[in-house]
Amino acid sequence: MIDKEIIRSALKAVKYPGFSRDIVSFGLIEDISVSGSSVSVRLQVTTGDETVPLKIKSSVEEVVNAIDGVGDVSVEVALQKPKGGTSGGTNEQKESILPGVKRIIAVASGKGGVGKSTVSVNLACAMDRLLRSQGDYKGVGIFDCDIYGPSVPLMMGITSRPEIDNEKIVPPSNYGIKVMSMALLVDDESPVIWRGPMINNAISQFAKNVDWGQLDVMIVDLPPGTGDAQLSLVQTLPVDGAVIVTTPQTAAVNVATRGARMFEKVNVPILGVCENMSYLENPDGSRMHIFGEGGGKWTAEALEAPLIGEVPLDSEIREGSDRGIPITIAYPDSKPAKIYQAMAATILQGL
Ligand code: ADP
Repeated sequence: MIDKEIIRSALKAVKYPGFSRDIVSFGLIEDISVSGSSVSVRLQVTTGDETVPLKIKSSVEEVVNAIDGVGDVSVEVALQKPKGGTSGGTNEQKESILPGVKRIIAVASGKGGVGKSTVSVNLACAMDRLLRSQGDYKGVGIFDCDIYGPSVPLMMGITSRPEIDNEKIVPPSNYGIKVMSMALLVDDESPVIWRGPMINNAISQFAKNVDWGQLDVMIVDLPPGTGDAQLSLVQTLPVDGAVIVTTPQTAAVNVATRGARMFEKVNVPILGVCENMSYLENPDGSRMHIFGEGGGKWTAEALEAPLIGEVPLDSEIREGSDRGIPITIAYPDSKPAKIYQAMAATILQGL
């Protein structure tokens, strides 16, 4: 009898089309069954690109056929269309994983340090304010999935640990916004070393076991990067659209665009590009372009998405993040806060 584990480990040679990660670590294998020399493999893949399951199927057939002692091979790839996008995906995934959440918006960047978490936090606060003023308000939440450098709780002034109620984690909140982050569960002193498959599991466990309740919008702060971890997350969470954060350096255009292509692969629409640290405003109103110019515009053009905001480099933005009082809360009438508010409105309209 052929050992299923031999098959599973052979399948690690099959990469997800266009990515360096394999289909096993992506969690696509649903079942492997062996009867005599016959092997059946069942997989599930979430994508809007119908060539992906075909490519996976033929690679799986090839790899399993090459295993000693294997006779018949049957491979079944179930295709689940992602929510959102133009392919007319279903709502099933969202119903099962986050039933009370109306809209999920991912905030992503190609690399770290561009201000993605600052944008996530201020967008959430600006959306909260906007939605509250419109009535029939349920709430806004931030799901900090930046497991490598979770900074959202600090930026939101949240220090309390989540409580457990009815075997579910109750997310703490501040300024009326619910926040869940790995930083609230692990100790500052004990760094967590994440490997690809762990991320996938952690996030889906996290989404399922947190009592988010009813939310109008959930902002998901994704880890920075251009590929595999982000793809896993987008496959796990039913994302309605993504906002790409970048800086004005033109050298950053490629890395920002590469990260964003991942969303196209799974048919998640890019709602817009936010250029952060765009300029420094002098007291006389003139602008200094410390980090260059054009990065946001070119990224937007490359992605055929709108440039939805240019956020200045501003000491009050930085101080707000450090103090745990985002500028949109501390100084809602300041120029930078108005830019976040306008971006929030544009994003909500685009959904
Ligand atoms: P990322 O999530 O992309 O790693 P962060 O949001 O953590 O980046 O921001 C990195 C640092 O830059 C933080 O100290 C933050 O306060 C600061 N920062 C982000 N955006 C701005 C801005 N527009 N003006 C001033 N400081 C900013």
